[in-house]
Amino acid sequence: MKPRRNPPRRPALRGLPALWLGLLLLLFPSGVALAQGREADLVLRGEVRRPDHQTFRELPFRVPAGVDRLRVELSHDGGATKTVLDLGVRDPTRFRGWSGGARTGFEIGESGATPGYLPGPLPPGRWRVVLGIPNVRPDAVARYTVRIWFRRPGTGPDPAFERPVREAAGWYRGDLHLHTGHSDGRCPSVTGQPAPCPAFLTFEAARAAGLDFIALSEHNTTSQAGALAELSTHFDDLLVLPAREVTTFEGHANVYGTWAPLDFRLGKGDAAGLARLLDAAEGEGALVAPNHPGLPSGEVCMGCGWSATTDWSRIPALEVVSGGVPALGMDGAFSGLALWNRLLDQGRRVTGIAGSDTHDPTRTDPMSPQVGRPATVVFARSLGVPDILAGIRSGRVFLDLSGNRAARLDYVARTRDGRSAAMGGELSLAPGEVLDVTVTAAGAGEGARLRAVGGIGAIDMPLPPGGEVRLEGLAAPDKASWFRFEVVGPGGARRLIGNPVYVRLKPPGA
Ligand SMILES: [Zn+2]
Ligand SMILES: [Zn+2]
Repeated sequence: MKPRRNPPRRPALRGLPALWLGLLLLLFPSGVALAQGREADLVLRGEVRRPDHQTFRELPFRVPAGVDRLRVELSHDGGATKTVLDLGVRDPTRFRGWSGGARTGFEIGESGATPGYLPGPLPPGRWRVVLGIPNVRPDAVARYTVRIWFRRPGTGPDPAFERPVREAAGWYRGDLHLHTGHSDGRCPSVTGQPAPCPAFLTFEAARAAGLDFIALSEHNTTSQAGALAELSTHFDDLLVLPAREVTTFEGHANVYGTWAPLDFRLGKGDAAGLARLLDAAEGEGALVAPNHPGLPSGEVCMGCGWSATTDWSRIPALEVVSGGVPALGMDGAFSGLALWNRLLDQGRRVTGIAGSDTHDPTRTDPMSPQVGRPATVVFARSLGVPDILAGIRSGRVFLDLSGNRAARLDYVARTRDGRSAAMGGELSLAPGEVLDVTVTAAGAGEGARLRAVGGIGAIDMPLPPGGEVRLEGLAAPDKASWFRFEVVGPGGARRLIGNPVYVRLKPPGA
């Protein structure tokens, strides 16, 4: 029997009799064109009539050289007359997938593909959309449209392929450093044996922790992209950043925003190799952030500390807090805080980020890393890959070590002549100019204190119950070109860490 068109996933319909489900299906047109953010690169049109009933049709199209992802969307106007079109595709040499009437579109990329389709290289040349035509009524005519988009590497974010999970601007909470069985993530199998850990457990843990985005940063590989394409259709309120942990003998660094191949094989002291890696990542619009730079390197953890010869002017972000070894204290001597502060003192503008480095999302004991602890909380224009990365670059970001999903830390500094800068922003100040700063800190917990770091003077005060502090008449920094705030517990352990406001000192008389 010809398989029927599958219903879209609608949990509320579970348990309804099949008849009702069938009737409901009739109400949904079989092909709805999706808005894809930009015009299609190719549009194929045609029609089917009764002689096409229970036949197949191939629609040739040409894939140009240099394409690393394609997207196909099928729509038609025959829903009211019960015309059904099935969808599949062939590349120049082989069959690449079939979704029948279950989907109206698909993507195929080098690393991942819509379930039902085979990822891999996209050979240029003559491809064919394969239409199956299980039903056309005797007197029906249905006009179809196939829209095809191509993504070329090195052209930055492409709106046809980067659709946000949520459109609204706001604070978004994520874990930027996670591992699954696609690298060295392990957890007990169903019989209790240690086994590579499947990615869906990390997704479940991320939802339980109230996260909005995650990065599965496997060591040097992107094989997780295929699993993510499937899981993202189920966990459809969770954004997954393309990521990997470039793992070298002289340090680890996460690369966010691309699945493109990157060579991780840096030699000893290989500054040119690192520059080539940064060139390649930047060409993809990706963001590179060294991980756990304060860890010692040695036989316990080979290459874990960051010792690579680095042009820090090219590094936009740094993992300053890692959850990998809770026993050492997330913000203790092995954190990246000391390096971060040093870089800021040198005038670098590096956004501090955090990642839990969780390898087993099923462990909940306090001595194990937990998904979402620490979390990186980013102010972004949307919950989409380009906007989250832009939010990290902008520096309006705080780190939450407490695991309280309601935690919030934000501040804005104002000059007396009405200029202002939030976290990540810059103020030009004359020597002796004074600043007013409003700090908002919510969900910081009992006994929390507010502390200033950098060149704004010694501030260490109890956080009032409302969480808002107005600091007036602060002297402009005379040396350090940055300041930021942290919220600490009664014992001094950091709960929230804010990013800097940067200061440019005007020369006297300017
Ligand atoms: Zn690492
Ligand atoms: Zn890692």
